[in-house]
Amino acid sequence: MEKKNSVMEEIISLCKRRGFIYQGSEIYGGLAGTWDYGPYGVALKKNIENTWWKRFVTDREDMYGVDAAILMNQNVWKASGHVAGFADPLVEDLKTKKRYRADHLLEDNGVDVKGLTLDKINALIKEKGIKSPDGNALGEARQFNMMFKTNIGAIEDDSSVVYLRPETAGGMFVNFKNILDTFHPKLPFGTAQIGKAFRNEIAPRDFIFRVRELEQMEIEYFIHPDAWKETFESFRKEMHEFATEVGLPSTKVHELEVADEDRAHYSKRTIDFEFDFPIGKKELWGLAYRTDFDLQSHTRESKVDLSYFDEANKTRFVPHVIEPSFGVGRTMLAIISSAYTEDELGGEKRIYLKLSPKVAPVKVAVFPLLKNKPELVNKAREVFSSLKKEIGNVEFDDNGNIGKRYRRQDEIGTPFCVTIDFDTIEKDDSVTVRDRDSGNQERVKISELISYIKEKIS
Ligand code: ATP
Repeated sequence: MEKKNSVMEEIISLCKRRGFIYQGSEIYGGLAGTWDYGPYGVALKKNIENTWWKRFVTDREDMYGVDAAILMNQNVWKASGHVAGFADPLVEDLKTKKRYRADHLLEDNGVDVKGLTLDKINALIKEKGIKSPDGNALGEARQFNMMFKTNIGAIEDDSSVVYLRPETAGGMFVNFKNILDTFHPKLPFGTAQIGKAFRNEIAPRDFIFRVRELEQMEIEYFIHPDAWKETFESFRKEMHEFATEVGLPSTKVHELEVADEDRAHYSKRTIDFEFDFPIGKKELWGLAYRTDFDLQSHTRESKVDLSYFDEANKTRFVPHVIEPSFGVGRTMLAIISSAYTEDELGGEKRIYLKLSPKVAPVKVAVFPLLKNKPELVNKAREVFSSLKKEIGNVEFDDNGNIGKRYRRQDEIGTPFCVTIDFDTIEKDDSVTVRDRDSGNQERVKISELISYIKEKIS
């Protein structure tokens, strides 16, 4: 347990010192459950999102991109069931008044919490004499709604209540008719969205694993109910392929068939994709068969017909939905934690991120051997510009000695470093290309450098 937590600490520290992820509002003491992404964090996040968008939207003909508003009419969340039931069990330390997730406290005490009702949770807390982490007695657990509530406009009353969306899905269901009316797609087709969602988690924890402001990549795939099993299977396969594409080791990705009593009220089948995080095996993504629950509920609440007319069979019905849902932050944590490696190179300990070139924030770094030799710096700048034009995420670095620059790039996860030395200029018009994982160096002609790197990172 201690080892696992220390790995997490190392990762948090690396993310901060190398400019991936900082604590939210840090100079004011932070804001629990929020994190800010720095330049490399943004680059990694965008690479994940672009890979996802390409696979699930651009490369397909049946997917429609959506970017809906975060603030939505409160009736959206009444219809979806979130106002009534999007809650976690909250329990209070009677002395300190600190609040905890009751199910997490039970879990920490070795209780299997799957399928527990609130009554059962309360009974178990009593029966097992479970105390708060500070050793105090706990109050009665109650359901706590996790939606952030605010008011829209100048008047604060019930009619002006809005919620920050707790999942991106809602924005796609309310646009189902718009997509039908403007694009006239035939079933099956899907809508896809990447965006922020907000959950007032009782106990945000484990770095970016459980946060209050999160980002999701979601698909609502609309089908005829007869097609649900095969569609579910095909997305299940695609989710594994996406994991591999972003560099997640398949041995660390596991499927959990969610039992009837643990599934969300709308789901007839759910698979949680779990990952071996440093904090243990936990949910990474979800795949759910949401039936026609959402479109039926929105039809009832909005009084707008959300059915589909099947021309071929001259039948009208409300489509069913398969929903693959991916958390961006958890994907990022899975990528960083599985890429985090400590080894020894040239007799020295080092830390590096073994990132797939596909997601690495910097693909290549270019160095002049010495900073104070203009001929080296100029040549390095030339090589840098030509690589940057072709490859994009390329960095120039002439700070400190070369060993320090390698260490920095290793920690960022840069797959290749290119060094321009005196031989480049005086002898062979070649550069040294160093491979991050092996530390091996190879001389490559400048004229062949772009194709050499492109081949390695593709
Ligand atoms: P958990 O059981 O861990 O709270 P969930 O089952 O409520 O997650 P979903 O509602 O299925 O999660 O959300 C879809 C995805 O969004 C999750 O698989 C996860 O990747 C991500 N996600 C959900 N809640 C959070 C959170 N608080 N912080 C970070 N990511 C989250």
